[in-house]
Amino acid sequence: MSKFFSKKHAALTPYVPGEQPVGQTFIKLNTNESPFPPPKSVLEAAKTEAALLNRYCDPESKDLTQCLAAYYGVKPNQVLMTNGSDDILNFAFLATGDESHPFVFPDITYFFYETFCQLHHIPYEKVPVRDDLSIHYMDFCGIGKNVVIANPNAPSGLVLPLSEVEEIVRTNPDNLVIIDEAYIDFGGESALVLLPKYDNLLVTRTFSKSRFLAGARLGFGVGSEELIRDLNTLKYSTNPYNVNRMTAAAGIAAIREDAYFSEKVHTICRIRDETAARLRAMGYVAPDSNTNFLFVEVPGLSGAELSARLREKGILVRQWNRPRIENRCRVTVGTQEEMDAFVKAMEELL
Ligand SMILES: *Cc1c(COP(=O)(O)O)cnc(C)c1O
Repeated sequence: MSKFFSKKHAALTPYVPGEQPVGQTFIKLNTNESPFPPPKSVLEAAKTEAALLNRYCDPESKDLTQCLAAYYGVKPNQVLMTNGSDDILNFAFLATGDESHPFVFPDITYFFYETFCQLHHIPYEKVPVRDDLSIHYMDFCGIGKNVVIANPNAPSGLVLPLSEVEEIVRTNPDNLVIIDEAYIDFGGESALVLLPKYDNLLVTRTFSKSRFLAGARLGFGVGSEELIRDLNTLKYSTNPYNVNRMTAAAGIAAIREDAYFSEKVHTICRIRDETAARLRAMGYVAPDSNTNFLFVEVPGLSGAELSARLREKGILVRQWNRPRIENRCRVTVGTQEEMDAFVKAMEELL
């Protein structure tokens, strides 16, 4: 630590992204990316925009915002486009959390939530999930704190029904409830339909997982017009040009390629379910997932050991040395060929 590092950050534990190896050919199942490239039209759109790189991009991302608002049937003023969904989450924590508005979230969820709270000095509480890692929605009803829930949740892959999400939103009218829908296209019902009824709901989404644009960094939030205005205040106080012009163009093109993504997402879900069944047939733990990953356990092997064994066979997966999940590995669903290789590697462990 340099002598310049502010004491206020001394206790900060940064989020640790999954490994992005350079130069080695791994089967990469560690960061929940799509194994499929985006369609040609998306790449073309980004390339065309690149000719204008000497000019600043539109700070409002107007065209993209309108296109997306129309797609989801909301007003453009209810949408804020961001640099990945981590960016909108950051604005939401920064804009709403403080001593009198602490945050609460499940103990096993996206670990970045805790980092945001630490970064912005927001008090927070972690509510334990059940033994099967499912969220008990009643734990969050009427809790009187800002709530953030990933639905489907990560890394469990489990989903809350819309009725339970609504109860959490309905019973916390004076607190913000963020529903992080990074994986909603792979399973579950979106909370977007609740927006006309509740002004305390923020739904966040990303183009990284089901729109195959992880490297472009595009996400967004949808909420009440007042809330979106507040989040814009934070955006314009940190990084007004947060969505670059190539990414914005790619985003518009992606929205127009719905059929391509639906078909591929469907394929990923089929491969996911088949892979889970094959793992269970071998005696491994692989609960049904509503996402593009499986949360796998080999009885008698720690997650670290499983991850290391797979790595020796050229397969990267994600694992955390954290209480309650240290025996699991999160395995992104890849192509059929990649999952065949993964299943074969798992067979060899028997
Ligand atoms: C991947 C992920 C995000 C962030 O994705 P971005 O690439 O920043 O859009 C947010 N929440 C959850 C639960 C995720 O898994």
